[in-house]
Amino acid sequence: MNRTAVFPGSFDPLTKGHESIVIRALPLFDKIIIAIGENPQKSAYFPLEKRIGWLRETFAAYTQVEIASYSGLTVEYCKKIKANYILRGLRTSADFEFERSIGQINKQIYPPIETIFLLTTPEFTSLNSSIVRDIARHGGDISPFVPKAVKI
Ligand code: ADP
Repeated sequence: MNRTAVFPGSFDPLTKGHESIVIRALPLFDKIIIAIGENPQKSAYFPLEKRIGWLRETFAAYTQVEIASYSGLTVEYCKKIKANYILRGLRTSADFEFERSIGQINKQIYPPIETIFLLTTPEFTSLNSSIVRDIARHGGDISPFVPKAVKI
């Protein structure tokens, strides 16, 4: 059976936390599609082309990983590309509450889907894209928090 997972997110920007989740998930799936969800209600800080470029460069060595973008519902995208797994990272109990409702609703909309959660490793629990954006906005050094390819 072909196990294809979609790792959906904004990746605005990609962080070492995202990178760690993908690398740890590699043994679980045949293919991981890192997919940037375009949300018309939520305008991104970094342009889509930049975010795609950072993902492509970071995961260039991994043949199992593909980079894509989509608009609309994540489950509709999964159905279209025949992916039965959604991969998500869990940092805190707040993440859990948010993910629980989305995961349950996604399953109701598209019953074959299973959401697989990986717990964040402790060093990345406090890391999120919004903190990295704040550092970037104020001219700080983001390099400790992002993969090498992410250059602003
Ligand atoms: P979204 O807007 O969908 O939350 P993000 O790009 O912020 O998009 O996150 C994509 C996924 O990566 C989510 O599952 C999120 O929980 C996970 N993630 C984000 N930051 C980290 C981190 N520091 N460690 C582990 N997982 C993370």
